[in-house]
Amino acid sequence: MNKKIALIRGDGIGPEIVAQAQKVLDGVAALYGHTFTYDEVDMGGVAIDRWGDPLPAAMLDKCLASDSVLLGAVGGNKWNDVPGNMRPERGLLRLRAGMGVYSNNRPAKIWPQLASASPLKKSIVDKGIDFIIVRELIGGIYFGQHKTEETDGQKTATDVLQYTEAEIERIGRIGFETARKRSGRLCSVEKSNVLDSSRLWKAVMHRLAGEYPDVTLTDMLVDNCAMQIVKDPSQFDVIVTENMFGDILSDEASMITGSIGMIPSSSLGSSTCGLYEPIHGSAPDIAGMDIANPIGTVLSAAMMLRYSFDMPAEANAIENAVSAVLDAGYRTGDIMPSDPEEAAGCQRVGCTRMGDLITGMLRKD
Ligand code: NAD
Repeated sequence: MNKKIALIRGDGIGPEIVAQAQKVLDGVAALYGHTFTYDEVDMGGVAIDRWGDPLPAAMLDKCLASDSVLLGAVGGNKWNDVPGNMRPERGLLRLRAGMGVYSNNRPAKIWPQLASASPLKKSIVDKGIDFIIVRELIGGIYFGQHKTEETDGQKTATDVLQYTEAEIERIGRIGFETARKRSGRLCSVEKSNVLDSSRLWKAVMHRLAGEYPDVTLTDMLVDNCAMQIVKDPSQFDVIVTENMFGDILSDEASMITGSIGMIPSSSLGSSTCGLYEPIHGSAPDIAGMDIANPIGTVLSAAMMLRYSFDMPAEANAIENAVSAVLDAGYRTGDIMPSDPEEAAGCQRVGCTRMGDLITGMLRKD
């Protein structure tokens, strides 16, 4: 099969981690007889420096003309003082909106080899952590009107949180469909005790529930959900929630699995052309040091093969290779055990070596 992948290396550690994912994809292509071609796309700080815009129209067009997009990360202190609508992260919001990818799926799954890296007690981890957060991605407060006004020397800032029934329904359906393919449990997270947008959210979810009798729907307030994720994450299978709540809860969920560097994500709309990226940022504190964990990006590439290219065996091959590398004791710094006894059985490796090891462990599934 021939596939064209738009590659956004981005800023900070972005180029380092994307290079590893590209190496792994090339390994998969060689193993299974596919051809992956790459179209380089500038987005974020690098695009501001080169083109004066975090996502020039020609770059968005390249993404729309691809079969899918693989992104490292964007942003960094260098661009802290540029105006809000020109910030690197604005390029990312425009890319998501331009691609129409309204559903962001983030798995929170603990790798047994990394169980001790979780900050949670062993008794909680041993009950299992394996859930997915389905987050609405192109609506809500991040896409509402933002303004700061000054009256009589006093500034007032406003951000509008708006959702239409149609926007809630389309992400709700993704939640129900995802739950249907797993254990049939869906938890809808909102703040209906305070927000109108959440009351509409809840009403739409309950209307949809009638169409999915095989799925058990529960409701949870977002503040309680934040507590339950650390108290007993084993209770969750699929969580569906709005943009900002999903942003915050998915970072919390990533931490309990060990490291933010391990978690991939997929963002899809109504076509198979998706956006795949690790959930972490550009980590400027470790950029250029060859110590970043590339596994979140490598696993994002695996999600791309599974969900956009319909290549489940190839996706399994990548996930199995990651597991084999962890079994063999190789760890980047962020997932090195803190316990000296456990660390003695592990070997610390850098970003490039981790990419080489995963590529070397690829076997046909
Ligand atoms: P961050 O995720 O970049 O870093 C948080 C911490 O996690 C840092 O200590 C970092 O070293 C560590 N870390 C992150 N990824 C790692 C990896 N792969 N391996 C090892 N350690 C890793 O979050 P931040 O510091 O709040 O943000 C830095 C920049 O990234 C900001 O400009 C922010 O706006 C941007 N950002 C971009 C995205 C994106 O591109 N999708 C997402 C979040 C933040």
